[in-house]
Amino acid sequence: MRILILSDMHSNLEALNACLEVAPSCDKVANLGDIVGYGGSPNEVTQLARKLGGLLVRGNHDKACTGLMSVEDFNPVAAIAALWTMQALTPENIQWLKLMPRGPIFLPFRYPLNQEETWAGTEADGIQLVHGSPLDEDEYVIVMRDAQESLLRTNYPLTFFGHTHIQGGFAFENERWETLRPIYKGPPDQQETWALDLRSDAKYMINPGSVGQPRDGDPRAAFCVFDPDRYEVIFYRVPYNIQKAQQQIIAARLPDRLATRLAEGR
Ligand code: ZN
Repeated sequence: MRILILSDMHSNLEALNACLEVAPSCDKVANLGDIVGYGGSPNEVTQLARKLGGLLVRGNHDKACTGLMSVEDFNPVAAIAALWTMQALTPENIQWLKLMPRGPIFLPFRYPLNQEETWAGTEADGIQLVHGSPLDEDEYVIVMRDAQESLLRTNYPLTFFGHTHIQGGFAFENERWETLRPIYKGPPDQQETWALDLRSDAKYMINPGSVGQPRDGDPRAAFCVFDPDRYEVIFYRVPYNIQKAQQQIIAARLPDRLATRLAEGR
């Protein structure tokens, strides 16, 4: 069994298509939110996310771009993009985005997926999906300190989160804390993967990275695949047509910075 984990697509159709092209066939999709905001293709990306379906949790941009949350706390560039996105989205797409559930949501993985509804396992048999953290859907878990309370409080061995656009995560085992960052060695214009063997006694917070606006210094689109049978996570970095995504942003008259940052991965 394999679960495809996507997060922070941010209206970047070129990046999303590139990820889907190389992703292995998966039994389930988990989408950790921020489908829209920042990028120039909100309707196309929302349509594709609707088609992919699977398990969804909403992100702060999904809320701001559909009027569920004000853009008051957004920086000026993010606020401009959110207001533009709200205008650009079709009423059907706004409606669908508005109905995305708040995290955390839970998925058993030690049982056949088709028996989810009658699942009577414990938390130790499941994973949880969040946008920010299990404690607060809008919290940024950037450094290990930010992850500690969530990891101490949860009984789920695995929490998948997004929001920071930084691929990797954190592990906690026997009083030991560890920061996980994928190690890539190849040329930056090639697709790469990094496998993380999960330890059965550890608890993890894992971030697949951002599909549509990476901020960890690597401009390649990011996602991950969780394989419960092998108990491993495979992280992916995928080159895509950044120029084309930038053109969509410029054509929408969104702030230039949203285009230039895609090439920097910042
Ligand atoms: Zn985001």
